[in-house]
Amino acid sequence: MSRFFSEKYAALTPYTPGEQPKGQTYIKLNTNESPFPPSARAQKLAAAEATRLELYSDPECRDLVSAAAEILGVGADEILFTNGSDEILNFAFMAFCDKEHPAVFPDITYGFYPVFAELNHIPYTQIPLNPDFTINVGDYIGVGKTVFIANPNAPTGIALPLSDIERIVRSNPDNVVVIDEAYVDFGAESAVGLTRKYDNLLVTQTFSKSRSLAGARLGFGIGSPSLIRDLNTIKYSTNPYNVNRMTMAAGIGALTDREYFAKNCRAIEETRAWTSDELRALGFTVLDSKANFVFAAHDRLPGKELYLKLKENGILVRHFDSAPLTNFNRISIGTTEQMQTLINTIKKILEDMP
Ligand code: PMP
Repeated sequence: MSRFFSEKYAALTPYTPGEQPKGQTYIKLNTNESPFPPSARAQKLAAAEATRLELYSDPECRDLVSAAAEILGVGADEILFTNGSDEILNFAFMAFCDKEHPAVFPDITYGFYPVFAELNHIPYTQIPLNPDFTINVGDYIGVGKTVFIANPNAPTGIALPLSDIERIVRSNPDNVVVIDEAYVDFGAESAVGLTRKYDNLLVTQTFSKSRSLAGARLGFGIGSPSLIRDLNTIKYSTNPYNVNRMTMAAGIGALTDREYFAKNCRAIEETRAWTSDELRALGFTVLDSKANFVFAAHDRLPGKELYLKLKENGILVRHFDSAPLTNFNRISIGTTEQMQTLINTIKKILEDMP
């Protein structure tokens, strides 16, 4: 820390992103990216836009908003695009939380929530999950705080049914409930359809997973026009050109290539089922995932050891070194070939154990 660093942030522990290795080519199953390239249409539109980079991007993202509004069945004033969904989540902490509206979220969830709360000096409560890693819905009924729930949750992959999400939203009419649907496209139920019914519901999604655009940084939120206006106040007070031209073009391409999107989501779901079965057959406990990753633990092979052995063998997974997650690894779902290699490698590691 330099002697110039503001005291405001002296105690801040930043978020630690997953490894992005250079040099050695790993089978990368550690940051829940898509194993499939962006849609050809997205690539083509982004490349064409490269010739116009001397001009600022459209701060209103009009072309992207109108494509998304049509496909997602919402009004243009009910959607806001951001630089990844991380940005809209930060905006939501800024816009809808303060001392009178503290934040609440599970103790095991996306690691960025406590960082956003700390960054913005927002008081927050972390509610323990049930011992089986599910969210206890009752804990959030009428909780009277700004709620952040990832559905499916990370890193567990476990999803709540829409009826439970609706109970939480309905029981907190004077607080915003943010449902982070980064992983919703792989088999969970989206709450987007509830945003017209409840003016306190904000749903966030991302193009980083199911639409293969993690490197382009594109996310969005859907909510009532008044919530979106509040978020725009934050956006226009920080970075009006938060979505760049090439990303906007890629986003339009990815959104409108609906067949490619559906095919890739189906492939991930099928490979997830296969991978979960294989891991269970090898003695792993695998949580019931609706995301593009599985969370798995083995009773004879400590999580850290498996992570390190896989890394030695050229496979990266994500290990969380804090109780009660230490025995688990989060494994992103790759192509069928990548998952076959993973399973074969784990078989060898288990065979070589004393
Ligand atoms: N929410 C959850 C639960 C996530 O796991 C991630 C990915 N790290 C994000 C949001 C943010 O993703 P992005 O900023 O790439 O949209």
